[in-house]
Amino acid sequence: MPLTRWLAEYAWLPDRAEPTRDVLIEATDGRLTAVTPLTVDGPPTAGVEVLADAVRLPGLTLPGLANAHSHAFHRALRGRTHDGRGDFWSWRSLMYAVAIRLDPDTYLALARAVYAEMALAGITCVGEFHYLHHGPGGTPYDDPNAMSAALVEAAAHAGIRLTLLDTAYLAGGVDGAPLAGPQRRFGDGDALRWAQRVDEFRPSDEHVRLGAAIHSVRAVPAEQLATVAGWADRNGLPMHVHLSEQPAENDACRAVHGCTPTRLLADHGVLGPHTTAVHATHPTAADVALLGDSRTRVCLCPTTERDLADGIGPVRRMADAGSPLSLGSDSHAVVDLFEEARAVEMDERLRTRRRGHFKPVELVTAATVGGHAALGWGDAGRLAVGQRADLVTVRLDSARTAGVPPVGAFFAATAADVTSVVVDGRPVVDGGRHLTVDVPTELRDAIAAVTAKEDS
Ligand SMILES: [Zn+2]
Repeated sequence: MPLTRWLAEYAWLPDRAEPTRDVLIEATDGRLTAVTPLTVDGPPTAGVEVLADAVRLPGLTLPGLANAHSHAFHRALRGRTHDGRGDFWSWRSLMYAVAIRLDPDTYLALARAVYAEMALAGITCVGEFHYLHHGPGGTPYDDPNAMSAALVEAAAHAGIRLTLLDTAYLAGGVDGAPLAGPQRRFGDGDALRWAQRVDEFRPSDEHVRLGAAIHSVRAVPAEQLATVAGWADRNGLPMHVHLSEQPAENDACRAVHGCTPTRLLADHGVLGPHTTAVHATHPTAADVALLGDSRTRVCLCPTTERDLADGIGPVRRMADAGSPLSLGSDSHAVVDLFEEARAVEMDERLRTRRRGHFKPVELVTAATVGGHAALGWGDAGRLAVGQRADLVTVRLDSARTAGVPPVGAFFAATAADVTSVVVDGRPVVDGGRHLTVDVPTELRDAIAAVTAKEDS
């Protein structure tokens, strides 16, 4: 790829408390080769000929946003579960109704549309927490990784990077109950067979990396936790796990194992800097210390957590204890990392009845470099030389953002304000439109294909 130049009206450079004006950004072969503020004190310092061929990026340009926690097929539930009463557990039964209707073809179509929706929102990399492995009843497909392959292809079509977090889902409860009904599609039997299947899936595509996941202490028996964590460790891959999303999980874990889920994970070698605990909504004070002392990362999914009435986690305390933060849209009730980011601060305000817990740069860090690090992409998420050339531009002249100072963009912008997205140096979104996918039409059709019977 030849040298490409962009001129950002504002750009959020690494470790700066606020955006910098007039930044020349250059990239070759998908990597940033120069990031130069032009007006430090006075007139532009680059020559007229350099600026003439630069692509103008009016508004605020950010590094790529990373969506560290996704279940692509949950997007089909948006708007179908919001009325009436119910909780996480009643929502889960609706989610299973969609899961049983997916096959590699319908999943490819749905995930392609969902990942393209993410691209429109400025997401350049997604972590797919993938447990829908097998055919109906748990029968493997001829290619036992056919569903994984569909997700890899979907991300390629959508133009974003993917960390496929292949998820071990082996039991129906903390007591080790066997999988039943729709859950049977998730299971590999035991952790060794899970590892054998994943070992056979090594996609060579540039846009994908592998990771491992433990669905939760509900779904992987205690004596098999170390097998999954050890596999990730040996292969140097990130490890993710749902943790204490619900008080009921804590109660069940205490009843069976006499300890919290966090303690159980710690005792089986699951925690550490390569591990991301998703949600961590109901940790004890001792759990917060275990997570922080081990530098275990925490991925927050505030729009899902509020949609499912999960609660609000002690996020400031977890960050202060040493856990780096990342963000995920999880069930895709909303795909908007600006909303997730400001919810981290806003929820803390509601919980404490005080304002001002997180600086804007901390929220930007969670949405960008924090998420990429959690997904195993240490070379993305910062506008710095050598990093992947991901550029996400947010307009500052919409009805929502006009008059807002660039530093306040994360408190005002929505995904709809993203005008331009470049991933690894390639334009994916321009003028607010995805360049290859008709996102609304494909979402409509793909969701109709997996929900038609249930709505009729
Ligand atoms: Zn999840």
